[in-house]
Amino acid sequence: MVKTGIIWSDEYAEYNLGDEHPMNPRRLLIPYKLLKSLDFPNLQEFIPSPASDSDILRFHTPLYLEAMKALSIIGDGSRPRLGLGGGDCPVFPRMHESSQLIVGGTLEGAKRILDGDVDHAFSMMAGLHHAFPERAAGFCYYNDVVIGIKYLQQEYNIERILYIDTDVHAGDGVLDAFYRERGVLGISIHESPQFIFPGTGFSNEIGEGEGIGYSVNIPLFPGTWDKLYIEIFEEIVPCLWKEFDPQFVVWQCGADGHFRDLLGNLALSTELYNYLGQRIKELTNNCSARGKLLMLGGGGYNPDSVARVWLASLAGVAGFDLPDDAPLEWIKYCKDKFNTRVSAKIKDQPIDPKKIDQHTLVEEANRQYLQILKEELRDTGVWANCKQFYSD
Ligand SMILES: [Zn+2]
Repeated sequence: MVKTGIIWSDEYAEYNLGDEHPMNPRRLLIPYKLLKSLDFPNLQEFIPSPASDSDILRFHTPLYLEAMKALSIIGDGSRPRLGLGGGDCPVFPRMHESSQLIVGGTLEGAKRILDGDVDHAFSMMAGLHHAFPERAAGFCYYNDVVIGIKYLQQEYNIERILYIDTDVHAGDGVLDAFYRERGVLGISIHESPQFIFPGTGFSNEIGEGEGIGYSVNIPLFPGTWDKLYIEIFEEIVPCLWKEFDPQFVVWQCGADGHFRDLLGNLALSTELYNYLGQRIKELTNNCSARGKLLMLGGGGYNPDSVARVWLASLAGVAGFDLPDDAPLEWIKYCKDKFNTRVSAKIKDQPIDPKKIDQHTLVEEANRQYLQILKEELRDTGVWANCKQFYSD
């Protein structure tokens, strides 16, 4: 039976951007408790160590690292040019230390997989895909994803890494970091940046120079539902995957595409995430990666949705059937500790597309986005061999 690793530290709760901020410890502790309240088979937990300065410097600049450390001690202030301070990325006590631990968690997950301790690993507090070398953005300070991928390239000499990002926000910091390279195939499926942060991630952003065709942005119109998502996914992703033949897969599995999320506007249910888990694991098994899959939690701001989406994703990956009922122990914990009401059922009722506002418009808009992507990618990168996509 496959072995699943969970990377967890109680100190993750220190990554607290404010109790009223969407990125608060509730949206992490509630999902973790759900996982612990279930009898999840073959689950092993690992405690991360903080990443070293030299690991952080694999991507970030010395100036940025020093500013993070200095502001962290005071726990207040700002450096606007570095994106530090303000609404999205406030300065808070132990900002550097807690971010450093998150990076350590991603590296721990990668190591455990490559050392053969587990088949796949899930680092829940991770996937901070919006941070740039010298700029915090979108609730992210250190980009653990880029550092993790660079670590795999530099320490394990892995030549082909596939990064798939299903967070509702485009994975801008990660795709940008590898925009001019062909060793990382970055695929980001997200709500169209016409409507949501970060304002980039359009279909015509496909990489540059050597990397042309190795960045794939798949925007979705607000209101996109499960079945429509699956059609688009199946039309693009498996062919690319097969042609690229990755040796390692990193999945940023943000939960903010769920229909009850506070920030996103997609209409996705737990069923979609369970499907993604199964399908991504299957694709990872059937290529040179031979099952080596690192999952990074990413966004998601309604704790009840995050908990059930992450569980559905992980169950799909591990081949574990989702239970119908949420454990009573979990429901009670959420009420007693956070005064939060959570669902009594793990799985959502499927959403009827006909009840989605302007559902024909949603379908048409997605077709148009896809058409632009096809035209842009024709004859570039791994796409040149995806003939079935161009059977028109
Ligand atoms: Zn997000």
